[in-house]
Amino acid sequence: MSASAVLLFFFPFGVSALAESISTGAAARITTSPPAGRAVLESNPLLTQDHLYFWIAKWQRRLALEDWSIESKIVRVWDLPERAVANIHWSLPNKKATIHVLNSVDSSLHRAEILKDTELSIVHELVHLSMSKLPLDPKHTELEEEAVKKLSVALLTLGDSKK
Ligand SMILES: [Zn+2]
Repeated sequence: MSASAVLLFFFPFGVSALAESISTGAAARITTSPPAGRAVLESNPLLTQDHLYFWIAKWQRRLALEDWSIESKIVRVWDLPERAVANIHWSLPNKKATIHVLNSVDSSLHRAEILKDTELSIVHELVHLSMSKLPLDPKHTELEEEAVKKLSVALLTLGDSKK
């Protein structure tokens, strides 16, 4: 299966985001996937912190977000909002953000899909960050979420076609 087919398949499951205020914010990438079968992955997590460093550096550069200090962490399913696979919190005055992504041991995706889907989560959260200065309405995040989903899938697909 090609990467774009995987993305198209999982794209409809994204649902919503949270945003708290204009100067600080939060957003989560949500899926409706069922809980993972953990037995196989528990002893050998697929996703590593090095993946996160690599993807964040790559997409931070591409999205011209180099003036931000961005931390990242692999977290367990109970550390994220319900059904979320990633989230981001940011502070606009401090230009600091923290991205959390779901540990692969808790993922319900097939191993072959986890890394590409997690890179999509990184792109998705960084697109939220690129919009953090916009006067968005925290009570109505559906339109922001829709735009972020479309842009992040398009960016990742473009990135694949440039290899
Ligand atoms: Zn989002």
